[in-house]
Amino acid sequence: MRDDTRRWIQADQTHCWHPFTRQGDWCAADHPPLVLTHGQGPWLWDSEGRRYLDGNSSIWTNIHGHAHPAITAAIRAQLEQTAHLSFLGFTHPGAAELAARLCGFFPENTLERVFYSDNGSTAVECALKMAVQFRLQTGEPARNGFIAFADGYHGDTLGAASLGGVGRFFERFKGHGYPVTHVRSMEEIHRLDSKHIAGVVIEPLIQGVNEMRPWPAGMLAELRAWCDETGVHLILDEVMTGFGRTGTLFACQRENVIPDFLCLAKGLTGGTLPMAATLTTAAIYEAFLGIPENAFYYGHSYTANPLGCAAALASLDVFEREQTLASLPAKIQHLHAGLAALKAAHPIIHEVRQCGFIAGIELRRPDATKFPPASRIGESICLAARAHGLLTRPILDTLVLLPPLCTTLAELDHALAALDATFSENPGIDTGRGSA
Ligand SMILES: *Cc1c(COP(=O)(O)O)cnc(C)c1O
Repeated sequence: MRDDTRRWIQADQTHCWHPFTRQGDWCAADHPPLVLTHGQGPWLWDSEGRRYLDGNSSIWTNIHGHAHPAITAAIRAQLEQTAHLSFLGFTHPGAAELAARLCGFFPENTLERVFYSDNGSTAVECALKMAVQFRLQTGEPARNGFIAFADGYHGDTLGAASLGGVGRFFERFKGHGYPVTHVRSMEEIHRLDSKHIAGVVIEPLIQGVNEMRPWPAGMLAELRAWCDETGVHLILDEVMTGFGRTGTLFACQRENVIPDFLCLAKGLTGGTLPMAATLTTAAIYEAFLGIPENAFYYGHSYTANPLGCAAALASLDVFEREQTLASLPAKIQHLHAGLAALKAAHPIIHEVRQCGFIAGIELRRPDATKFPPASRIGESICLAARAHGLLTRPILDTLVLLPPLCTTLAELDHALAALDATFSENPGIDTGRGSA
């Protein structure tokens, strides 16, 4: 190990605290963390000079690859002007242009206002607060609750966390935040009394953190129809699905649905800078006009950061210049065929779930029973795949394969071959540790 690597690991293990991480294991003497130093396209390099395919798009953020020259140049050009200035009391060219570009993806008189913040959680927080304040200002103050889906994930700040349905993340914080009714299906929604409900929040087409589980086709359109009947606002969390992941720029376009609030973050800047946007309609916006008390009292210091806006505009340009969306059907098909072959070859693969360029590979014992959670099979497989040049992360025992959209067919083959080699080398895992 190089001296630099050793020094970085030591400083990290002494002073850093990582998200969603068992720090005891992370800091254990026999666990040298991987130090990543740079990237190019869908590839990442570690401090020892080894190369890996970024199979998880750097936690679902990266779209056009790392160090994309056009996005890097746009950020650099903006940096020469200013890195930041206040959006409170002023505007700037990038924020104005980006808002117009984002609204331009939707038909006129639909989503036409953009509120900027910093990450997926704040994009959701912002929609929730707008939804509640809207009801206060339109004579329905009792409509202050939300519907969210079991096993859903919408971020970790308190309001967003109160929507969260993943027990192992959110159980201990229950009781704080908004009144939320959790449901599993449209049938349950149809049975609900909507009179205290301001909005329903969903990850459209596929729940990410819930081990990459797609919704039934048509479900989003059905939810939109129910919202139209009941006056409940539809809040779409496209933090993960946005910017091409499902095959269209936004997942809601797949079912011709337009929400009342659209939350965007991860891929907004192509995965380069933290930035989020909450889009909404004129009908909602107009309830914040008229009297001064109706201003939306919300904001962050780095709202509409100019570097982020420049990166987002450049990323949208790359979508056009590289015809990113047009390139996807062939890649999605290739991924589909590759995963089917992988499943046929390895009985440890219980199910492959795919939505566009997003895939979850669920591992179970050959008799279809789940591995004991303590055996952490998903983690061991991902760790072993590093030796074959693939970086990804599991969610429990579901491996996530969600590479940047720029990944070529040959690079996809590299990822699939890495998994194939990993499963072949670890046949012991097929029967499950400590089981018969
Ligand atoms: C990642 C994610 C969030 C939270 O975004 P952060 O930027 O991590 O705060 C919210 N919703 C969904 C669907 C996500 O995947």
